[in-house]
This record gives sequence, structure tokens and C-alpha cells, in this order.
Amino acid sequence: MQHAKGHVLAIEHWSATQIADPAHSLTLEAYQAASGARFTTPVPLDHFVQYGQWYQRQSLPDLDQREIVRMEKVPNGFQITLSDGESLHSRRAVIAAGIRSFAWRPPEFDNLASTLASHASDHHSFSPFVGRQVLVIGSGQSALESVALLHESGAEVEVVGRAKRINWLQGWASTTLHSRLGSAVRNLLYAPTDVGPAGISQLMARPDLLRKLPRGIQDKLRKRAVRPAGARWLVKRLETVPIRLGRCITSVTTVGARVKVSFDDGTERTIDHVLLGTGYRVDISRYDFLSEELNNSISRSNGYPRLRRGLESSVDGLHMLGAPAAWSFGPLMQFVSGTHYASRALVRFVARSSLR
Ligand SMILES: Cc1cc2nc3c(=O)[nH]c(=O)nc-3n(C[C@H](O)[C@H](O)[C@H](O)COP(=O)(O)OP(=O)(O)OC[C@H]3O[C@@H](n4cnc5c(N)ncnc54)[C@H](O)[C@@H]3O)c2cc1C
Repeated sequence: MQHAKGHVLAIEHWSATQIADPAHSLTLEAYQAASGARFTTPVPLDHFVQYGQWYQRQSLPDLDQREIVRMEKVPNGFQITLSDGESLHSRRAVIAAGIRSFAWRPPEFDNLASTLASHASDHHSFSPFVGRQVLVIGSGQSALESVALLHESGAEVEVVGRAKRINWLQGWASTTLHSRLGSAVRNLLYAPTDVGPAGISQLMARPDLLRKLPRGIQDKLRKRAVRPAGARWLVKRLETVPIRLGRCITSVTTVGARVKVSFDDGTERTIDHVLLGTGYRVDISRYDFLSEELNNSISRSNGYPRLRRGLESSVDGLHMLGAPAAWSFGPLMQFVSGTHYASRALVRFVARSSLR
């Protein structure tokens, strides 16, 4: 596998790695032709990031990269304040601010210094951990991928997870249905968006249909489609790393410049650092640029905004894309391949609306 030592995307399929564009001119193939870059699936992360940047330069060369520090509702729209103090007014606003604000840390680690415990999303490189003992909590993709990178950087790593087993993606059954039985079977069972297992994938690819199902069924399907899992290409990279599963944390204390973690099986570990691969929990109140008043006026369920047609929130003219849209439009919204639905639904809605 190319770039086996780096990050690669967890979703392996080419079609699910394309960012949507209406003219089909900003594809991975077009990027390869324009840049001379050569790669296959799973797409190495550095190439995917460069593809995203190329896509942005082609589609939006005058992108304003300043941070938005405040967004509030005003008559006739939204007032947006940028990091340098400049203020803008817009009649409509689309929030696509990603999941970084939603990084979830178990409360046991609340009072620990960041030198002792950090979230996987806090790191771009694990080189500061060379020669140090690191305990990784979690058994999903961000935990397992961090473990591989820590291990390869020369840290002494151990993994502890609450789940009883790791769900490895691209297992025998999935590989058979995806490729060994031919494209007719694959196309029947899996949509090109490739989110969710056989069959469910087709439903996930149709958010308008999914939304018509009873709430309880939507919730069950959402959990089934995106349960914590590890990409198969990690298995070999983790062969020599100790992994203990089915353990819950009972206490966390500091011991000098180290941290002691105790588990419900009576074991404990005293290590240099705990890396929390504990995932993300959508809670839009953690978007700290939303004014309190605007934040309070968005109708929500479990931290997710309740979105209407066109991914519009209960506040007229305010739309939300990406992971926050998953409660309303399904887990496809959390993935790159969700851009095909979300961008069209948003643009159609805005084009038909009197409020432009
Ligand atoms: C370990 C892991 C593996 C994953 N693997 C895959 C995969 O294989 N395939 C896949 O499709 N998805 C994968 N995902 C999900 C992936 O994160 C999303 O598909 C994708 O990044 C979502 O894009 P987005 O535009 O919604 O958010 P992001 O890519 O996070 O972009 C949000 C943007 O908003 C900007 N922003 C935030 N706040 C502000 C502000 N206040 N002012 C200005 N700008 C702001 C940020 O700087 C950023 O540029 C993975 C996620 C994780 C954690």
C-alpha cells in the first residue's frame, strides 16, 4: 500500500472520496491530471488535503480565510464579526464549521493538564511523544489511527477500550459484497456514497427518504451505519501494540508529572500521557462563535439542530452542513460523499427562496 506509514482516509472507495461539484470538473481524476499527483485508494491524507485545497482554488479563489469570532441574529439577517474586528451583514448564513468543537473528553479527565491528557484532535504530529509511555483510550478510527502513528513515532503505546471487540471495516463479507461478486451486486447493495453496510448504504444515500421513517428507526439506522470501527489497513500496523478491550475507567489521578488510570477489572496504569481517542459528540452550543441569543433560538435534539428542507435550522436563513446535519438528514452528512446531497439541497432551496 502506498504511504502505508501516514494517514489515509478511513473510507476506501474512490467514489466516496470525491467532493461534489455540479459540472464534474473538480474530481480526483481532474486533480491528478492537473497536479501530476499519483495515488489510489485509500487516498493518503496529504493528497486528499491537497485535492481539497486545489478544489477550493478552482471554485472559490477569493476565499476569505479570516476566522469568524461571532455570529448574531439581527433584523434582516445575521451580523458576522471576523477575527480582525471587521463586521459583515448577510441575509442568509451557512455554517459548515466541522467537528473540531465537538471533541469529546470523558469527564474524569476534566481537571488534568493538557500535558497529561489530550484529545486525538489536538495533534498534527506525535513526535513529541518519542520514548514516552502513552495510554490511548478508545477503539474507533481516530484512536486506532493515533495508536499506529504513536507506535511508529517511537512512543510506548497501550490501548484500552470500553467496547468488547474492535469492528474492523472491509472484512471478508464486506469485501466479498463490495468486489468479489462483481459490480452488479455491489451497485445493488452499496450506493456510490458508501456510508453504511450492505443495503443500509442505499437508504443512507437517500436522505429525503430516510427522513420519512419514524424517528426511532432513523436513530437505529444512524447508529448501525456509523458505529465506531477501524479501517482494515490498520490491522498490520497495530500487530505488536497491546490492546485491552471491555474495560471502563474508574478513576484518574496525577502522580507527580505522570497520570494514574484505574480500570473496572482492578488493573491500573501509571503513564506519561493519556491520549483520548474518544470521538466527537455534536453539540452546536460548543460553536463558540454563535451568540447566546442565536444559540438559544436554534431548535435542537441532543445537541443536533433540527433542520428543515434545504438544511435550514429553525432560525430562518440559517443553514448547517456537515456532522450537525446528521440528526435530520442521516449519517451521510458526516462524510465527504454527503456533499453531493447537501450542496444540491441547499442550493436548490436558496435558488427557490425569496430570501437570497
Ligand atoms: C478519524 C477520522 C476519520 C475520518 N475519515 C473519513 C473518511 O475516510 N471519509 C470521509 O468522508 N470522512 C471522514 N471523516 C469525517 C470527516 O471529518 C468529514 O468527512 C469532513 O472533514 C467533513 O468536512 P466539513 O467541511 O464538514 O468539516 P471540516 O473539514 O472540519 O471543515 C470545517 C472548516 O470550518 C472552518 N471553521 C471552523 N470554525 C470556523 C470559524 N469560527 N471561522 C472560520 N472558519 C471556521 C475550519 O477551519 C475548517 O476549515 C473522518 C473523521 C475522523 C475524525
